[in-house]
Amino acid sequence: MGLVRQADAPLRGLNTFGIDARARLLWRLESLDDLPQLCEVLRDDAGKGHPQPPLILGGGSNLLIADDPQQPIVQMALRGLRIAQDDGNTVIVEAAAGEAWDPLVRWTLSQGLAGLENLALIPGTVGAAPIQNIGAYGVELRNHFESLDTVNLEDGTFRSFDATDCAFGYRDSVFKRADAAGRLVTAVRLRLSRVADLKLDYGEIRTELAESHITAPTPTDVADAVSRIRRRKLPDPAVIGNAGSFFKNPQIDAGQATALAAREPGLPCWPSGDQVKVSAAWMIERCGFKGMRVGDAGVHARHALVLVNHGHARGNEILALASRIRDAVATRFGIRLEAEPMVVGAPQL
Ligand SMILES: Cc1cc2nc3c(=O)[nH]c(=O)nc-3n(C[C@H](O)[C@H](O)[C@H](O)COP(=O)(O)OP(=O)(O)OC[C@H]3O[C@@H](n4cnc5c(N)ncnc54)[C@H](O)[C@@H]3O)c2cc1C
Repeated sequence: MGLVRQADAPLRGLNTFGIDARARLLWRLESLDDLPQLCEVLRDDAGKGHPQPPLILGGGSNLLIADDPQQPIVQMALRGLRIAQDDGNTVIVEAAAGEAWDPLVRWTLSQGLAGLENLALIPGTVGAAPIQNIGAYGVELRNHFESLDTVNLEDGTFRSFDATDCAFGYRDSVFKRADAAGRLVTAVRLRLSRVADLKLDYGEIRTELAESHITAPTPTDVADAVSRIRRRKLPDPAVIGNAGSFFKNPQIDAGQATALAAREPGLPCWPSGDQVKVSAAWMIERCGFKGMRVGDAGVHARHALVLVNHGHARGNEILALASRIRDAVATRFGIRLEAEPMVVGAPQL
């Protein structure tokens, strides 16, 4: 335990794109007791004129490291899981931010707690889950969110956030705004239930369950089904570097969607609140990028939304390809794509 310091730290194994960058300085935080010391060393670093705020690193599965980061990196490694409150049916689970997400899902299921089953097998840490309000198979983190704790690494002050404070949106929260940089999430509390309310109507969950001859699924059956579908469908970062979906599905107003669908027959659209979501993957494919490769930077051959590192791509090469895609989609469809991962060492796309 303790605050672990590493200078000139290799980052290839710490980001799922497998970008071979190096960090000038990396601090690994394993205990809350070390927070005052962490804030102090960061202040010293700032005093020497090094860029701040620090970059907070979880599992590195939603990052594109375009260039060697010059700001210090704080690697979140706080561990701990507990039941914080239990009224019989509703249970509040508290997890330290450095816990891995999928094992947390499995732990809650082993406690007989339902809610997170559709979010099984999403890579990354608990602390990063609220940053972009992770979502999959019709469920988002915000559906089960209770509150979280943060510390401001600049001055060491603590603050808890409830769901309203977090301002969750589609792959979005207040923590994606520039003024939240340097605010470290230390723990997240989730509201789960002993009574399952299964969401089976999204994607292939029902078909997957039927093929396994499961007629009365438990939350664990659903997590298993979602995990099997994800393993089949999504490229494994251990095999080919990627950060999952690189672009969000744009949300546009209904009038614009109708006009676009008339011009572009087959464009997949679905309602999203009072707006309409359109398929980014479809537009990228129509622009001819699916399967494209420029050096070692590429677009996955089966998933137009997934940018990949075929081996030794630099982060800025992947970023350049992402910019080309964004410009081509804007020219043809009049829609500006927004990147999901955080870009490090270059302006956000
Ligand atoms: C194969 C694959 C599939 C994926 N599928 C999905 C999916 O279905 N749904 C989905 O929503 N996402 C998906 N993702 C994206 C990613 O898994 C999630 O966004 C995940 O929550 C990122 O966690 P992380 O710990 O790796 O975060 P990192 O990549 O380390 O960080 C992401 C952002 O969060 C910030 N951050 C991390 N930890 C903290 C903290 N403790 N305090 C403050 N800020 C922090 C970082 O500074 C950065 O801005 C997928 C990624 C991959 C590679």
